[in-house]
Amino acid sequence: MTKKIAIIGGGVVGATAAFYLSQNPAYDVTLFDEGIGQGTSAAAGIISPWLSKRRNKDWYEMVKTGAAFYPGFLGEVLAGEAIPKTVYQRVGTLLFTKKDKTLDELLKIGQKRREDAPDIGELTILDPDDIRELVPIYTGDKRGLLASGGARVDGKELVDLLVKTATTNGATFISEKAKLEAHENGRWIVQADSVTETFDVVILATAAWLPEILEPFDVKVDVRPQKGQLVELQTAWETNDWPVIMPTGEKDIIPFLDGKILIGATHEDDAGYDLSLEVHTLHEMLENAQQQFSTFFDAADIVTGRVGTRAYTSDYAPFFGEVPGMDNVFSASGLGSTGLTAGPIVGFALTQMVRGEEPVLDPANYPIEQYIHRRSGD
Ligand SMILES: Cc1cc2nc3c(=O)[nH]c(=O)nc-3n(C[C@H](O)[C@H](O)[C@H](O)COP(=O)(O)OP(=O)(O)OC[C@H]3O[C@@H](n4cnc5c(N)ncnc54)[C@H](O)[C@@H]3O)c2cc1C
Repeated sequence: MTKKIAIIGGGVVGATAAFYLSQNPAYDVTLFDEGIGQGTSAAAGIISPWLSKRRNKDWYEMVKTGAAFYPGFLGEVLAGEAIPKTVYQRVGTLLFTKKDKTLDELLKIGQKRREDAPDIGELTILDPDDIRELVPIYTGDKRGLLASGGARVDGKELVDLLVKTATTNGATFISEKAKLEAHENGRWIVQADSVTETFDVVILATAAWLPEILEPFDVKVDVRPQKGQLVELQTAWETNDWPVIMPTGEKDIIPFLDGKILIGATHEDDAGYDLSLEVHTLHEMLENAQQQFSTFFDAADIVTGRVGTRAYTSDYAPFFGEVPGMDNVFSASGLGSTGLTAGPIVGFALTQMVRGEEPVLDPANYPIEQYIHRRSGD
């Protein structure tokens, strides 16, 4: 018998789940996505988790596995066709440290981490002139560490590809806000403007909006929004093979194809769900980048900005699993600033739970019950 599955939220997590579940004709998949504020399509797109200073082991396991998952995952989505560079490309990541001598320490850390994360690729310290060979606009005098396995992904292109593939497989995509209603005869009611339907299984991939969708269910959800803005430039530079540039404590520079460059992003904790682009903030980020990539970027290159909302838990840890007290409702959230890296593997893990398989990531390390619990238990 066909199982009806609703996925609410069509960022990278929901769209990945829609792709995998739509492969099985026994599942009748409907993906609802309002799209407003989506983190995925606003993201900078850096896939380079290995040299982070963060010490949370479970988080590291998730993002390391997530980064390694990408090429095979895209291979599956594209059924063996070459991965378009517009979607994903391993261009390497170039990292800087505040003090020059810590770069050598970072190299050692990277070499150690490569033992169980070969996807980090080759690690090479580059002198300023070597850096200029790669990225001619570099005017700084610092050395940098190049990790050849680093990649960039265009979140919007990725989600469009996933939704297109899922709908080709038979899934229905509804570009509307959905509401989850009470449980009736073992099924969940999902209501959007154009449809009201019942489902056997629901996946809530609503990220920062998880508290809102769970509002009617007497649960407390430890998830909050964080606003992020980025500058988008169109330059005349040949950026196709430039690595992603990650200066410490400063804004990252993410070159895309044909001269397009993103700079950012902001991490604004007090802005709630606000989605306004602030021109002065965009200019500040550009000026910041000009410190080491001086005159080559020009305010005239600014074409636009991007803005989106990240989802954070109070201890910054991500979670996924079956929502406590809500049978056959699964969710993931709290992916924070590395959710594009983790999104496909988390979406896949949710899919595995729906299929009754053991997930590739151990849900015990990302306990959903720590972040969603009954109010009546307060
Ligand atoms: C500026 C910025 C830069 C970033 N840079 C990076 C980066 O370089 N590398 C990295 O790994 N990560 C990055 N991230 C983080 C990453 O983008 C997110 O963590 C990730 O995309 C979250 O994916 P998601 O699917 O959980 O949620 P989202 O992509 O936020 O998708 C959630 C979707 O659910 C929809 N929705 C919510 N409620 C409803 C409802 N009731 N009905 C229908 N639809 C609903 C929303 O409209 C949205 O489309 C960045 C984020 C931002 C904002």
